Amino acid sequence: MTIKEILDFGRQALAQAGIEHPGFEAEILLSRILDTDRVYFYTHSQEAVDLKREAHYRSAIKRRCQSEPVAYIQEKKEFMGMEFFVNRDVLIPRPDTEPMVEYLLKYLQLNYPKGAKILDLCTGSGAIGISIKKYFKQADVSLSDISEAALAVAQTNANQLANGDLTLYHGDLFAAIPQGETFQVIVSNPPYISRAEMDRLDRGILDYEPYMALDGGESGLDFYRRIISGAHLFLEKDGLLALEIGDHQADDVTDLLKNNGYREIQTIMDLSGQIRCLTGKISV
Ligand code: GLN
Repeated sequence: MTIKEILDFGRQALAQAGIEHPGFEAEILLSRILDTDRVYFYTHSQEAVDLKREAHYRSAIKRRCQSEPVAYIQEKKEFMGMEFFVNRDVLIPRPDTEPMVEYLLKYLQLNYPKGAKILDLCTGSGAIGISIKKYFKQADVSLSDISEAALAVAQTNANQLANGDLTLYHGDLFAAIPQGETFQVIVSNPPYISRAEMDRLDRGILDYEPYMALDGGESGLDFYRRIISGAHLFLEKDGLLALEIGDHQADDVTDLLKNNGYREIQTIMDLSGQIRCLTGKISV
């Protein structure tokens, strides 16, 4: 088949399966397999695609037709200008998390220009912690996750994107962090979907992303309660706790922060103008 024929096939199959932007996605999936950019298709539309790559493409299209997220099919997702390896053991990094990382980078540069220790809890693919390390080299970054499989993904990303120069801990929240270890910043994007919201998630999320990375308990707030009540043991004086939150959780999480002695509560908006992150400081 030629590039044009194979793209026509992909677009039609995706359109029939009800995928939005079928033409665009047909091209995105092919560009990964041919290791080229999409512009190449316009100048080489009559070029033949070999049978091995055609089979690979057909399998990618089939997976996408069943609503599997493109990131899992391609095993990569761009976040903060870097390409993270992802698989179904980790949540796919979301662009909505980037403003929190940018905020923290500015915060670190301003307050700790010589360097600081940062802990990324529930790190998953490592996207948050590794991005901080990448753009703030003097950071001493630790990543923690309860899932060994997720940590393997984080380790791959740490090696590829940050020369492996991070510390990884395997455990439930703070469980594996050595006693006495303290950080200037603790950041987390914990599971925060409530049971009621879980049923309303897109199929692509619910069927493919790890349930344990989404499930925040009945109210969606379980992890905030545990993190906010435990973080002071691992924060330096005036340390900052930064939490990504779900829709409509800002009031509840603000109350939890205030009730646990956090002050100077700040909000960070995501790309759609929702409050996506809360930060607070504690004097311990
Ligand atoms: N932002 C993700 C979603 O909306 C959820 C992430 C999480 O639970 N931490 O699907």
